[in-house]
Amino acid sequence: MEAYESGDFMALIVQKYGGTSVANTDRIKNVAARVAKYRAQGDQIVVVVSAMSGVTDGLIKLAKEIAPLPSEREMDMLLATGEQQTIALTAIALHALNIPAVSLTGAQAGIVTDGVHTKAKIHNITPKQVHERLDQGNVVIVAGFQGETKDGQITTLGRGGSDLTAIALAAALKADLCQIYTDVDGVYTADPRIVPSAKKLAEISYDEMLELASLGAKVMQSRSVEFAKKFGVVFEVRSSLNDNPGTIVKEETKSMEDVVIRGVSLDKNQAKVTLVAVPDKPGVAARIFKAVGDANVNVDMIVQNISHGSGTPATDLSFTVDKPDLLKARKVIEGLRAEIGYREVIANEGIGKLSIVGVGMKSHSGVAGKLFDVLATAGVNIDMISTSEIKISVVIDLAKGEPAMKAVHAAFIG
Ligand code: ADP
Ligand code: ASP
Ligand code: MG
Repeated sequence: MEAYESGDFMALIVQKYGGTSVANTDRIKNVAARVAKYRAQGDQIVVVVSAMSGVTDGLIKLAKEIAPLPSEREMDMLLATGEQQTIALTAIALHALNIPAVSLTGAQAGIVTDGVHTKAKIHNITPKQVHERLDQGNVVIVAGFQGETKDGQITTLGRGGSDLTAIALAAALKADLCQIYTDVDGVYTADPRIVPSAKKLAEISYDEMLELASLGAKVMQSRSVEFAKKFGVVFEVRSSLNDNPGTIVKEETKSMEDVVIRGVSLDKNQAKVTLVAVPDKPGVAARIFKAVGDANVNVDMIVQNISHGSGTPATDLSFTVDKPDLLKARKVIEGLRAEIGYREVIANEGIGKLSIVGVGMKSHSGVAGKLFDVLATAGVNIDMISTSEIKISVVIDLAKGEPAMKAVHAAFIG
């Protein structure tokens, strides 16, 4: 994919507009106007839209008013309606500008997924209808976040999944350009809503973006970044409210290593599960995490402490999961109680995961010590730690999350 300059050549562009960019009819008209501008340059445009902001959350709330753990198949049926509203409204807005446009559901766009409801993975894309409609001169508007199994069941791709729809379509269509339009004008060194001094990045590597996204920077869905990396989709994150250049996400270049810390993120969406006094014998951890995995709950950090008291050796085992999966994880663990024989299970939703990310960490030392020092000075206790080549994460008290993030950003980035 080449960088695109206006007037260059006729290009196929995939543009994704998130919830706030289609939050009301004025914003949808604004999207149509931007699409019209690109189209006037002769480009072919595929637009991917999210549900209007708040709609998906509102639908989840309705379901939970009826049942705390609703059927995941029915949740997909319900949630997919959010995006279906916006594709039709966006097509109508383009028609009002005399631009031929047609909306397609994920299934109509040929997005085939596995059958894991609420977090389905894309299996393959056969965008036959997209090509046909484009060839007829239409702007094609595709519902983000949704697909269909090969047996025709509607699925969704996990929260924020419209990003994945856009990246996957860009790969399948061999688009010249993929633009992710949102309510900030790029990827910043930290969430600019929490850290006002955060700086916009001109570019960032897939690996750094992936870590930031997985660690709480919801500006991109992490699975979409994983997909972009795998298929080499270069994309730009930019604002739907202005024309400022955004952030290019692409393969790592040598000069990127000069910067030690690219960004800081805070994940407030994690919960910690602790099993107290688990018998310390082979096979127990395997049994627990197999059962949790079978329930499609993703486990992130795991910490085990052996207690050295008298009697049968026992360990406390803690792990973190996404908050929406907590109830499911708890149910699975409680189902294992008789078999495993732990003493009790404690769930804690009051945690935050603070992380620093940068490919430069590979070649710079002393980063962990500095991080712990900054946290100690700020009076923040560290509960769990995990590291990889390009990131360090700590679990801390949720209430201290934002001040800790500001302190860490100030110390490493400014
Ligand atoms: P959309 O609805 O367009 O998908 P999201 O709300 O999912 O938008 O993501 C955009 C939001 O991500 C921003 O409003 C911002 O608060 C948040 N965000 C978190 N971390 C970052 C970051 N490092 N850079 C930019 N935005 C970030
Ligand atoms: N509407 C979905 C959500 O809120 C998908 C998306 O916005 O990308 O998670
Ligand atoms: Mg999003």
